[in-house]
Amino acid sequence: MDDVVIIGAGQAGGWVAKTLRAQGFDGRITLIGAEAHAPYERPPLSKAVLLGEADPGTTALFSESDFAALELSFLPGTRAEAIDRAVRAVTTDDGQTVGYDKLVIATGGTARPLPVPGAAQHALYLRSRDDAVVLHERLVRAKNVAIVGGGWIGLEVAAAATKLGAAVTVYEAAERLCGRAVPPEVSDYLFDLHTRHGVTVHLNAAVERIDAGTVTVDGATQPVDLVMAGIGLVPDTALAAAAGLAVDNGILVDGDGRTSDPDIHAVGDVANRDSPVLGRRVRLESWGNAQDQGVAVAKHLLGIDPGEEGVPWFWSDQYDVNMQILGLPEAWGSPVRRPGDGPDRFSLFYLDGARLTAVVAANNAMDIKIAKRLMAADKAVDPHMLADPAANLRDLLR
Ligand code: NAP
Repeated sequence: MDDVVIIGAGQAGGWVAKTLRAQGFDGRITLIGAEAHAPYERPPLSKAVLLGEADPGTTALFSESDFAALELSFLPGTRAEAIDRAVRAVTTDDGQTVGYDKLVIATGGTARPLPVPGAAQHALYLRSRDDAVVLHERLVRAKNVAIVGGGWIGLEVAAAATKLGAAVTVYEAAERLCGRAVPPEVSDYLFDLHTRHGVTVHLNAAVERIDAGTVTVDGATQPVDLVMAGIGLVPDTALAAAAGLAVDNGILVDGDGRTSDPDIHAVGDVANRDSPVLGRRVRLESWGNAQDQGVAVAKHLLGIDPGEEGVPWFWSDQYDVNMQILGLPEAWGSPVRRPGDGPDRFSLFYLDGARLTAVVAANNAMDIKIAKRLMAADKAVDPHMLADPAANLRDLLR
């Protein structure tokens, strides 16, 4: 293998390049990125960057010197337009043809467009670094902010806009917040958290249209300075589909990240992976997954065993609450609750018999750390101990 081409210069693509070099690959690596920026991390975009507390440049995945040391052929501001699998080459929108021995697709996804009249003209989205700059500039001037979608983006932006002094209303189409990602008791907690901070949350809300200075919801028209929509992510599969790769809610890959063409892998938000640990397909949209898959696929390309995959892990910061989630929201029964010293500190442990299957913790990072180790070691746990705030959870590791 002499030539690796990576389409997509985000978190996943960046980690593929970094890991290839860290593991000794000295061939050519071409990194094609549609945006003007070198790889950057998205989590601060809806938090510190939006608040104006961090410069957008601080989100860079690599320092300038580390990036230079990777000796990549980096094509920023360039779109891959087609993959010719017969000759193993990628063509770009500026007319280049780049040959590959192995290709990695890390195209991620695009904010789902809000399908109502006026949204195309008036709604803002938050996906890229440039989006965050625009949204910050608008937020600091806005008094009345409407957020469509009570998922992670919507809630983090609601927290930031509130902190910047705006009156915020969240319109969620479903009957609870973050319904796909968390169980009902956590949705209820998030509702309470935002309500306590002065946000008005409307569930089962049907946003009907957006006009200059107004939003119409369930027949009522409200004045508004800014509308931000965070209603999910559409995986960018067009290139893969046009090349004839198998696609179904993302690019289908096996446990090693291989697509239906053995010379092409896919990683990150765009990859719908057959997970050996979960025993089913899953397309995860998270920072941790983008990094882990990037590392694993780079090792796989070099014939190095990537080791066992970890349990999915995710976090969100809203107000002064750091929420972490370990495991996926499937088959979550009723949890064992470990209370903390106030409404914003607790852990919820989800069990299958005596084994942990998932944990949600608010301002309790230590419980997540211990739970990760308990789950990795497949240790039996005592629910009474989990529920007792005086018990030391580390004792369960013995
Ligand atoms: P999301 O977490 O999937 O949430 C979208 C929400 O919008 C869902 O609750 C959805 O309800 C709702 N919705 C859909 N259509 C709607 C409509 N027409 N009107 C009102 N509500 C509607 O997606 P997101 O918040 O847009 O985030 C995009 C991506 O960024 C996700 O991958 C997310 O995980 C990621 N992200 C991560 C973090 C973090 O790691 N902390 C922070 C921000 C964003 P239904 O489920 O019923 O469709």
